[in-house]
Formats: sequence, C-alpha cells, structure tokens
Amino acid sequence: MARERVYLFDTTLRDGAQTNGVDFTLADKLAIVAMLDELGIDYVEGGYPGANPTDTELFGKDRNLDTVFTAFGMTRRPGRSTSNDTGLAALLDAKADAICFVAKSWDYHVKVALETTNEENLASIRDSVRAAKAKGREVLLDCEHFFDGYKANPKYAMACATAAYEEGARWVVLCDTNGGTLPDEVEKIVGEVVKVIPGDHVGIHAHNDTEQAVANSFAAVRAGARQIQGTLNGLGERCGNANLVSIIPTLKLKREFAERFDIGITEEALKKLAHISRALDERLNRAPNRHAPYVGESAFATKAGIHASAIKKDPTTYEHVAPELTGNRRKVLVSEQAGKSNILAELDRVGIRVDKDDARIGRLLEIVKEREAIGYAYESADASFELLARRTLGKVPNYFDVTQFDVNVEQRINAKGERVTVTMAVVKVKVGDDNLISAAEGNGPVNALDLALRKDLGKYQKYIAGLKLTDYRVRILNGGTEAVTRVLIESEDEHGERWTTVGVSANIIDASFQALMDSIVFKLLKSEAPA
Ligand SMILES: [Zn+2]
Repeated sequence: MARERVYLFDTTLRDGAQTNGVDFTLADKLAIVAMLDELGIDYVEGGYPGANPTDTELFGKDRNLDTVFTAFGMTRRPGRSTSNDTGLAALLDAKADAICFVAKSWDYHVKVALETTNEENLASIRDSVRAAKAKGREVLLDCEHFFDGYKANPKYAMACATAAYEEGARWVVLCDTNGGTLPDEVEKIVGEVVKVIPGDHVGIHAHNDTEQAVANSFAAVRAGARQIQGTLNGLGERCGNANLVSIIPTLKLKREFAERFDIGITEEALKKLAHISRALDERLNRAPNRHAPYVGESAFATKAGIHASAIKKDPTTYEHVAPELTGNRRKVLVSEQAGKSNILAELDRVGIRVDKDDARIGRLLEIVKEREAIGYAYESADASFELLARRTLGKVPNYFDVTQFDVNVEQRINAKGERVTVTMAVVKVKVGDDNLISAAEGNGPVNALDLALRKDLGKYQKYIAGLKLTDYRVRILNGGTEAVTRVLIESEDEHGERWTTVGVSANIIDASFQALMDSIVFKLLKSEAPA
C-alpha cells in the first residue's frame, strides 16, 4: 500500500519565540535552524522579516538548507495596494523559499480587529498570495482563529481558505489560535474543509491550551490534513504549541500512522531527537522536562522493584517503545524503595558484571539507602552511583589524594573605586610521589576550587583536559539550623558525553568539592587512566 506523505512545519523560531522568558539571538536562531534541518523537518519558519532586526538579519543571509526556509508576515493592509505596503515589501524581499501569510478568517475579528469589510479581507488574501507567487515563492496561508471562526460563520471561514487555495497557495493552514478547540471538533471541521480543499493542501496549527495540541494535530491528520505545524518541546506563548518532539515519534513508531504515512525524518535522525530536545533547552537555559514523552530522562525510568526485575528479563513488558529509537535510554532508579533487582539492573546498565547472589550487592544497597537518607540523590547522579558501586565492589583505583585545599573570598574596593569580590583557591594534591600545588582565581568559590583542582593533576592532566562543567545545581535540604546542602554537577567531556555527580554536606564548598572529585575520578575511570 502506497503511503501518503505528511509534512512537518516547525515554528519554534516564530511562534515559539513568543514563549515567556525566551529570547532568541541570531546565533541561537542559526543553530536551531541547523538542528531542524539536520533532523529532516520539511519547513522551518525563521521569523518575521521586517518586524525586528534579528529576523531581518536572519533573512538577509544566504543559506544552504534542505528544508524549505519560510518567512512569516501579514497579508497586505486593508485599503493599501500590495505595491504600497512596506511590511509586505519586506516579506517579499526576504531571502526565503516560502512565505507564510497570516490572515483573519473569523468575520468578527475582521470587523473588530482589522476594522475592515469581509470583502476587503478576502481581496487582501488574494492579492498577497498572488504577489508572493509572482516573486516565485511557495505560499502558505495561516487562517487565524479558523476553528472559532468556522463555528461562528462557516461560510466566511471557508471563503478565506478557498481564496488562498484558488489563488495558488500550496498550503492552507487551519489555526486553533486560542487553543480551546477539542479533538472531536477539529476532526469534524477539518473533515468539512477537505471536501472543498484537497487534504494534501491543508495544514493544522494547534495550541495547547487544553493540553490537546498533539491530539488535535492527529485528529486533523485523521480527517485528511497533511501538514502539521508545531514547535520543539512545545514552546509557544501561554501553554505552548503542538509539540513536534512528541508528534514525530508517534508518527514514526505507532502503527496507526507509521503504516499509512511517510514523514521526512529517517530512523537515524529519530535517534537524535532526545539530544536535540535537550540541546534546545540548554541553549535557552531551561531545565529539560524529565517527564517529556519519548525524550525525557524519566520517560523510561522505573522505580518499583518488581517492574525493574521484569524489565531486566524483557523490556517490552513495561515499555511502549524502545527508548533507543528516540535516542533515549532505559533507566532503573536507585532510590529509597530500591530492591536488589533495581541495583542489579543499574549495575548491568553501567556495565558492571556481578553475580546476583554476591553478598556485596546487599552491602551496596545498604550504603545507597543510608546515603540517600542524608540527602544524596543517586537517581539524578548516575556517575556518583557508578563510583559508589565500583568502590563497594573494590574496583576504583586511588588515582590521587587532595591533601589540603583553601578557598578565600575577599571583598574590597579596587583602584577604580569599585566594590569587587575576588575569590582564590589553593589545592595541594599528591599524585604518586609528587606533591603538587595549584592556585586559581574564579568568579566564585566553587569555580575557583574547580579551576585549581583541574589545573595540575600531574600525569593525569591529559585525561581531564577535555572535561568541563556544564551545570551546577544547589538545593538546601530540610531547612533551619540542621540544613544540609546538596550539590549536583553535570560534566561533559571532549566526546560530548555527559554525567552527573552529587555531593552533600552542611558546607556548600565541601558538598561541591565531593561532586567535583567524583566527576574527575569518573572521567579518569572512563578514560582508563592507569592507576
Ligand atoms: Zn500560533
């Protein structure tokens, strides 16, 4: 059976840029375009040329992409001609393969927001599509408020959509701008639209205000639409847009869609999805959603002992798809409720072979429980767990000893009369028979300590040269005078591999030191540095 093509349209850089707290720089936009292109997204909407300097600059650049790079903007203003509209001119001049116009399709908005007549709005759609076609661009029309408009005046909403289609627009995109439409309504209304405009010219643009943007996108496809618009990680104003990171694996891996449709994403590219999702969050300085379907760190994590033992025997017993398909991984949580089978499964995952009746397993379990009770979080710190496990099993060399460290924080007035805070750390390390001393200044005590510690490890220095800290998280546990601090440090090496370590202490410097030490020792272990 020949499969139909479903096209994916990404609007992370345009609609996603409306997310509270998100502000893309030109470098961000270029990097995200490259990621989306590599993933195999059919259309990437770059922004709104003419509306702000970043987007104007982005659309002034030459590029070499497989994706259809799309500019977004309004149809000509009411009462103007296409040749006398500066906004439209900027859009037509932008270096883009396609232009996505947005137009009102709800008669109420035409009257109240545009303050024009229904006929003039239709003429504006026709003229704008014609002008962009004349410039050789592929044309899309986003019908704003289409579903609400359709419910209020189906005839007029359809007139807007057909005006664009008849004028030669490649796609007519039905937008649920307020995000309040439910899947059954979407399916019914799209079903009506495709009786007039062929489904392979119809797109869906859903917002997530009832948490059904993904479901609404699939409802539209079921009814015949063949383009889905959405964003990476569901970015977007209010509750976000349809999340392409959830939509893509569902289209690829779930039989209902996989048997009927082809998309532009290969199996190889799908394996990059978890990485792309996390890389975007990192760029935006947002914590990745651990519970994100398919790609979240917890998406294939299991805690209860009985599940863990079944997963070890046969993963399909508790997993709807294999985590590797989207670049994710299975995780068996080591936690307070951990049973022996969890520990065994986790040891297996990190590549430690040990007999299941080995008495040391029981001891490791006891140590994990004790340490978690005082604040260690091995669930989040896989590298510290692996070190603890290897130490308990007697397999970690003693590479070096830190015999002493000293951190000094000083605030003073500098020569320019400014108040400055200066931090310096001194670390004494014994590597074999060598006693080494390093000092470093940092932008804070932990940074200074980290720099001093990694400055000179003698014969081990070459193994840690590519190590860098990518995240540092502090949490104060159980408050008051008994408060302890938990520090989680994420590190990355020259191969892009990442791991997390943990430290706990009443003193934040000491907690940080433990996590830093674990990170360095883990790196030496991973690099198979000689003991
Ligand atoms: Zn939108």
